[in-house]
Amino acid sequence: MNKGFKNNVPEPVSQITQTLKKANFEAFLVGGCVRDMILGKKPKDWDVTTNATPEQIMALFEDSFYENDYGTVGVVDRNVTDETLSVVEVTPYRIEGTYSDKRHPDSVRFGQDIAEDLKRRDFTINALAYDVENETLIDLYEGQKDLAAGVIRTVGEADKRFGEDALRMFRAIRFSAELGFEISPETALSLIKNREALAQVSKERIRDEFIKIIMSENPKKGLELAKEGKMMSFIIPELEETYSIGQNKAHKYDVFEHLLRTLQCASDKKFGLEVRLAALFHDIGKPRSKRWSNDKNEPTFYGHDVIGGKIAKAILERLKFPNKVIDVVVKLVRWHMFFSDTEQITLSAVRRMIVNVGKDHIWDLMNVRVCDRVGTGTPKENPYRFRKYKAMIEEALHDPISVGMLKVNGKDIISITKAQPSPKIGFMLHALLEEVLENPALNTKEYLEKRVLELDQISLEELKKMAESGKEKKEKAQEEQIEEIRKKHWVG
Ligand code: ATP
Ligand code: MG
Repeated sequence: MNKGFKNNVPEPVSQITQTLKKANFEAFLVGGCVRDMILGKKPKDWDVTTNATPEQIMALFEDSFYENDYGTVGVVDRNVTDETLSVVEVTPYRIEGTYSDKRHPDSVRFGQDIAEDLKRRDFTINALAYDVENETLIDLYEGQKDLAAGVIRTVGEADKRFGEDALRMFRAIRFSAELGFEISPETALSLIKNREALAQVSKERIRDEFIKIIMSENPKKGLELAKEGKMMSFIIPELEETYSIGQNKAHKYDVFEHLLRTLQCASDKKFGLEVRLAALFHDIGKPRSKRWSNDKNEPTFYGHDVIGGKIAKAILERLKFPNKVIDVVVKLVRWHMFFSDTEQITLSAVRRMIVNVGKDHIWDLMNVRVCDRVGTGTPKENPYRFRKYKAMIEEALHDPISVGMLKVNGKDIISITKAQPSPKIGFMLHALLEEVLENPALNTKEYLEKRVLELDQISLEELKKMAESGKEKKEKAQEEQIEEIRKKHWVG
């Protein structure tokens, strides 16, 4: 066991184990945090297990609350900035009763022994406990050996453990995707044998594991395992429809393989959840829209984007994703064909697309497109045409150079000069714009208000000339701005 391991345990966590021990209780770090420390990864959260009861735990920690029905107490630290430390879960040793519904233990009793608690945990790599003060690791199921070998194996007989809680089957895949581990042969066989029990697991629990697969470094592997384990029909049956669906000549891969490759690219590029989901679902409408074209002598998939948007919506609603996520993903799937549709894309078409997907998600749409190309096996990721779209999006998003940029407006001028609304106000604004374009530091309320009073003294004729020169300057500045954007994207 690694020396200096203890030093990896953050102070607020070791304070909790110390406090429990000073009160004569046992205390261990357990589960994911021990696994991740051994792997040299930063744990996502810290779990402590103890022989103290929930009431005894709460009596020791002033700022704490009941977290769930299993006796878990959340111990709060309001002084830390690291989010993983703001709540540390402290759970009494548990002994689980029988599972008659394959998802909830019929009863949960608190145990007196760490061994009993480790026995009910899902996988050997998750059944390690660490005593911080004594620097000892409790490893009753060869968890360290499996960690070193990169193997996911159930604690005890797989059939029995999957029979108790069917979600563990999907968790096996999740850990395999997150850690890049293999599932041991006995555990893998048991997955196939018991997979139908997944139908009884709540959609929320499936969703949470599914999100972890999607957000992992190897989502492609995770979903391939779900396919191999014949589990997909209990998770996302619509993806099963895409298995072995051949495409047109532009594609090397069948639809399922293409979707996985697109998703994998989104993971490699560290894109967010919405882009990853859209990457996975963007062509999910293809099986239902596939028609043979005699003219083209290949299949076509007209309308697969519209159908796909609807299918993505149904999937995400069924898995009870938040509406905000559903909205974005559906839009990205619905409009993913935008960039491949036409050679001649116009600025007004780009503007319409920004309205369709929303200003905040237009770059997400581009990111889905990037991954779509990579997932097709197209060698060049950033060709000229693509860079041109980017430049056009930026152009469309840019605030135009106009008198609207000024720190005073027409109304201010009317109130300063006590004039009636007239073309003179517009002349003044353009005269001010010229100055500000020349020297942006002058764009302050104080300066411009002072200038308004001065300009008010100038003849209308003179002012009109100044305004015209201001307008010319504005047009030039606009051209320069667009040139800048194009240069940035290497499109001349
Ligand atoms: P992560 O780093 O993703 O949080 P984790 O291993 O901490 O991974 P959790 O889902 O937070 O996973 O569960 C914490 C621990 O509780 C696990 O390591 C495992 O020991 C145990 N556990 C969680 N869910 C189950 C389950 N369904 N059956 C048995 N043990 C479980
Ligand atoms: Mg955890």
